[in-house]
Amino acid sequence: MITIEQGIEAVMALASSQARPDRMPAEVVPLTESMHRILREDVVADADSPRFDKAVRDGFSVRSEDLSQIPAELRIIGESRAGRPAGDDVVVSKSECCEIMTGAALPVGANAVVMVEHSERLAPDRVRILRGVQVGDGLLRQGAEARQGDCLLKSGKRIQLSDIGTLASVGKSQVAVSRRPQVAILATGDELVEVRESPDSSRIRNSNSYTLHAQVRDAGAEPRMLGIASDTLPDLRDKIRRGLECDILLVSGGVSMGKYDHVEEIFAEFGVKVLFDAVAMKPGKPTVFGHRGETFVFGLPGNPVSTMVAFDIFVRPLILSLLKAENCRPVLLEAKLEVPAKRDAARTAIVPALVHFEFGSYRIRTAPWKGSSDLAGLSRANCLIVIPQGEGNIEAGDWAKFVPLN
Ligand code: AMP
Ligand code: MG
Repeated sequence: MITIEQGIEAVMALASSQARPDRMPAEVVPLTESMHRILREDVVADADSPRFDKAVRDGFSVRSEDLSQIPAELRIIGESRAGRPAGDDVVVSKSECCEIMTGAALPVGANAVVMVEHSERLAPDRVRILRGVQVGDGLLRQGAEARQGDCLLKSGKRIQLSDIGTLASVGKSQVAVSRRPQVAILATGDELVEVRESPDSSRIRNSNSYTLHAQVRDAGAEPRMLGIASDTLPDLRDKIRRGLECDILLVSGGVSMGKYDHVEEIFAEFGVKVLFDAVAMKPGKPTVFGHRGETFVFGLPGNPVSTMVAFDIFVRPLILSLLKAENCRPVLLEAKLEVPAKRDAARTAIVPALVHFEFGSYRIRTAPWKGSSDLAGLSRANCLIVIPQGEGNIEAGDWAKFVPLN
């Protein structure tokens, strides 16, 4: 049995050893389709931003030295609007100003903008200024945000909302992003029926395919639903064969010690090279990882919470690594335990928990749940706490790591 860390290392090592340049080649998508994709080009500023000294207030562009005595009366010699600068003939000289709007270019001679709220219009061409300003007030200087040629977004970044705006502002109507890996999802078990069906008392609905579908999407990959395989060799063989055509195959269930757990047998038939099939984690111990040629293969334990946890620990980092994302590893935060938590002697426990922020730190307690099939219990939690293996408890007041669930 290997540790969680060793398992993650094995997955990441295989991901990068197989990461040939063309494995997840970049594809070009419209800007409107690029949200949350992994960027595959460095994006540079095509011009200074702003392109000119820009007013960030509506008011009057002035020479600050003309306002040493307040109030001061100035002559209005022109107007600068957003998109329509004052002409070259407008040069602000002593005791003069130029009316200006937010987003407009500062006229020659002026060095600050006084807000309209701090003025009184006396006549069409005269204004009384009620407050002094420093050089640069009410302005954003040319290039203050970025210089032409500056790198604004680095390849590998997951495109977030603000990046959409940045891409638009530098003229990227098309964006190079990583192709999404195709991830086949296969549920196994004679007891499973589809979500829309009504199971009899001996059966349950297939929930794993749907949590995996959501997790695959969220990680930035493309799910391919292969439905449910019965616990028979021919059906498993048939569906696993189809799954092996994808970049990643996720099989849930059928990897424990039960008489009808045939998944590893079929993996062996197809020549899947298994790198591990037991991890010192609870839940998730029977997680299987291997590959067949270019395809990464997982056997995830069938219990719904186990499947989800094993995905987050092993599959998500693999997908992010294939996408060449800059941060692939799970983000762990730290919280203070409010009540003692029992450790498992042999395995790291990953347990639904409730976390909140109070007195300057996160506080955490395990949530009531009935074990790794208890989806309703997990829905009541807002994070997973990681309890390292060992004897006894971790005590109230000790620090513990957790992963937020949303
Ligand atoms: P297994 O790993 O196949 O022994 O399954 C462990 C437990 O998880 C059993 O109680 C199964 O009924 C349950 N299970 C397996 N697959 C699914 C699934 N797709 N959806 C919901 N529960 C499942
Ligand atoms: Mg089963």
